[in-house]
Amino acid sequence: MSAPRPRVYLSPPHLGDDELRLVTDAFASNWIAPLGPHVDAFEAEFAARVGSAHALALASGTAALHLAMRWLRLQPGDEVLCPTLTFAATVNPILYERARPVFVDCDRGSWNMSPALLAEAVADRVKRGRPPKAVVLAHLYGHSADLDPIVALCARHGIPLVEDAAEALGATYRGRAPGSLGLCGIHSFNGNKIITTSGGGMLVSDDAALIAKARHWAAQARDPAPHYQHSEVGFNYRLSNVLAAIGRGQLRVLDVRVAARRANFAAYRAALGGVPGLSFLPEPAWGGSSHWLTGVLIDPVKFGADREAVRRALEAENIEARPVWKPMHLQPLFAGCETYGGAVAEELFARGLCLPSGSSLSAGDRDRVIATITALAAPPVK
Ligand SMILES: *Cc1c(COP(=O)(O)O)cnc(C)c1O
Repeated sequence: MSAPRPRVYLSPPHLGDDELRLVTDAFASNWIAPLGPHVDAFEAEFAARVGSAHALALASGTAALHLAMRWLRLQPGDEVLCPTLTFAATVNPILYERARPVFVDCDRGSWNMSPALLAEAVADRVKRGRPPKAVVLAHLYGHSADLDPIVALCARHGIPLVEDAAEALGATYRGRAPGSLGLCGIHSFNGNKIITTSGGGMLVSDDAALIAKARHWAAQARDPAPHYQHSEVGFNYRLSNVLAAIGRGQLRVLDVRVAARRANFAAYRAALGGVPGLSFLPEPAWGGSSHWLTGVLIDPVKFGADREAVRRALEAENIEARPVWKPMHLQPLFAGCETYGGAVAEELFARGLCLPSGSSLSAGDRDRVIATITALAAPPVK
């Protein structure tokens, strides 16, 4: 019996040369706390990198979204428009604040929220006398959503825009960083993201008052007093100084990590782009993608096998691949929530597969992925 081949992961952590040195510094200085010089420096360096005036380091991207929802002072039953095609963490913080998500379908060109459908949804809600309290947008798989029409729409109606850029660090939208164009944006340093602190997140905004309030809430909402006094509900959401040290090292290699993920996409497309029934999400016209994950769409008739058959064939080779996000309007948790459109997200879920895309993926492992997929494809018609 031959030994099993080593597992190829979807998006594993990839540390650089500086992280351990910076963590050692955190130990040596005894700043083992959810505050300290590395937290301050990580916030400053991150804000500069994405072009936002202020940044708040947090325990997760989900915590950042929760604080953003809290800033909106949502009332029970208030409605928030959000994408149906995304990870549940985009939407759950709306529920934390007892508000209601209303889902909007994506467009085929970017897999992100359709600006045209969002405009229809806003007009419809306004007509019904229930203008949405916010729009939450996600930038999926390293591709920026088409922000200009969405920013303009939200401004016209006075609707705050919150950007979930957890998957889009390193991408650009007309030269700017996704997450820095709305009222505020969030980033994630979960272990599978483009850079990681093992777990962590960042809230960014040009609004100093928003970040100051979020900072207050994230540290148990302690009033300025020598004793422990609280006037509001607080949370324990701050990022550890140790993890911030990792984040600073990771930020220094962000550009090379983006280049490696873009190279994965280019290699997959060069090898598989001509396979009938298999297509790639093209780079959007409005910016550069970080290609966090390379996704392919599989047409079962033309390709000769469906998405699940491809996923299972890869799994049999000890290769991790994942279906595109299951739309929120199909989740049991969100049964009964209203949805504008939904068919595009359903099709992307039925046909979409994310391939191993880590920045440390070797050319040899990538070739294993390619060979497994090629072996399944229908033979060319003679
Ligand atoms: C990862 C992710 C999040 C959550 O980030 P965490 O840091 O894991 O809490 C939110 N939204 C999207 C789209 C994500 O991919």
